[in-house]
Amino acid sequence: MSRVVIIGAGIVGLSTARAAVKRGHEVVLLEKGPMPNPQGASFDLHRMIRAHYGAMEGYARMIAPAFDAWDRVWNDLGKEHFENTGAVAISLSPDDYADKTLQTFRKIGLDHEVHDRAGMEALAPHLDLPEGAWGVTGGRGGPLFASAIVTELTDWVRRHGVDMRDNTEVKAIDRAAGIAVLADGTTVQGDLLVIAAGAWVSNLLPELDGNPVYRQALCYVEPPADYKESWRNAPAIVAIGDHGGYTLPDRRGAGLKFGHGGHRRLQRPDITGFGSDLKAESDIVLGAFRPFLKQPDHYTPQRMQVGYYVLDPSRRFKVETNGKSVLVTNCDGQMFKFGPLMGEQIMRAFHGEQSAAELTNWAAAY
Ligand SMILES: Cc1cc2nc3c(=O)[nH]c(=O)nc-3n(C[C@H](O)[C@H](O)[C@H](O)COP(=O)(O)OP(=O)(O)OC[C@H]3O[C@@H](n4cnc5c(N)ncnc54)[C@H](O)[C@@H]3O)c2cc1C
Repeated sequence: MSRVVIIGAGIVGLSTARAAVKRGHEVVLLEKGPMPNPQGASFDLHRMIRAHYGAMEGYARMIAPAFDAWDRVWNDLGKEHFENTGAVAISLSPDDYADKTLQTFRKIGLDHEVHDRAGMEALAPHLDLPEGAWGVTGGRGGPLFASAIVTELTDWVRRHGVDMRDNTEVKAIDRAAGIAVLADGTTVQGDLLVIAAGAWVSNLLPELDGNPVYRQALCYVEPPADYKESWRNAPAIVAIGDHGGYTLPDRRGAGLKFGHGGHRRLQRPDITGFGSDLKAESDIVLGAFRPFLKQPDHYTPQRMQVGYYVLDPSRRFKVETNGKSVLVTNCDGQMFKFGPLMGEQIMRAFHGEQSAAELTNWAAAY
C-alpha cells in the first residue's frame, strides 16, 4: 500500500482519489474550500460530453474510453448521472467545426448521421438556420449532471476511507519529494502527490503564472413557451459554425444553458471572483445566439454560472510527472468528461502500467 496525496477535490482530484482507493492505497485529499467546492470548475448542474472534437481526432477517440470509465463510476455510485440526448454540431460553411468533425468521424469510423437543413428543422425546430446549414450527430453525448456527480463522488471516497481535509489550503509543494506544505507549516507527504488545483495552480507553481486563466460565464435561460419542449428533447449543441455557441438541454430539472466561447475573459478567480452581472452578461451570450433563434425576444435569462480554467493555445491537457508528483493542468472547458478516465490513467502510470511519457502523450491526445 502506498500513500497518495491529492491537492484539489474537483472532478480530477476526486476521480484520482477513487481510482487510488480501488487500487488499495491510503489517500489524503486536500481542498482549500468545502467539499465539493461550488467555486471549482467541476461544480455546475451540467457539463457536456460528446465525441465532436473538430479536427482533434485524438480527443474524439478518447470519448469511448471516457464513457467506459463513467460506466464504472455509475456502477460504484449505483446511479447514472448522464442522459444520452445526443449532441449536434451545425455547419454554416465549409471547413468549420462541424465539417471538420464530420471528417474526423469518417476517419475514425464513428457511426454518425448528417442532417440537412430540413432534418435540422425537425431535430431543433427552435432554431432558425441559414440556407445550406446542416448538422452532424454521432456517438453518445449529452449532459453529465456535474454537481450531483462531484457531490456523490465526495461521499463515495469519504465512505471508502479517504482522509478528507476540507478548508485546508496547500501553500507550497516539493514536487521531487511529494510534499504538500499547509498554512500552519505542517507537511503532508505522499509516495505520489497529485496536483489537481484547477485555475489556482499557479499559486502553487509560480512558473505557471504566465499560463492563461480564463473566466467563463454560462447563461441559464427560460425559452419561449412554444419551444420549451423542443429544447428539452433536442440534442445538445456543440457548435454553430465557428461562432462558439453551445447549449445543454433542460433535463432532470437542470435548466436550459447557453454558453459562448467569445464570452471567455482572461481573468483570475482570486481577483475577479464569482459575481456576475446578469443583464450585461446574458445580453452578450444571448446576443450571440439571436441570429439562430426563432422568437429571440422571448428568452428570459435566469442566472449566470461563473467558472475558471487554464487554457493555453495548444488546447491539449498537460499531465506532467516530476519526482513524486503528477501535475494535471490546461484542463480548458473540456476536462469534466474525461475526469474519471484521467484518474484511472494516473494510477496506471503510478503502478508502472504505462510510463510517465505515455501518460503525458495520452493526455495530450497525440
Ligand atoms: C464554464 C465552464 C464550462 C465548462 N464546460 C465543460 C463541458 O461542457 N464539458 C467538459 O467536459 N468540461 C467542461 N468544462 C471544464 C471542466 O469543468 C473542467 O476542466 C474540470 O471541471 C476541471 O476539474 P479540476 O478537478 O481540474 O478543477 P476544479 O474543479 O476547479 O477543482 C480544483 C480544486 O482545487 C482546489 N484548490 C486549488 N488550489 C488549492 C490549494 N492550494 N490547496 C487546496 N485546494 C486547492 C480548488 O478549491 C478546487 O476545488 C467547463 C468549465 C467551465 C469553467
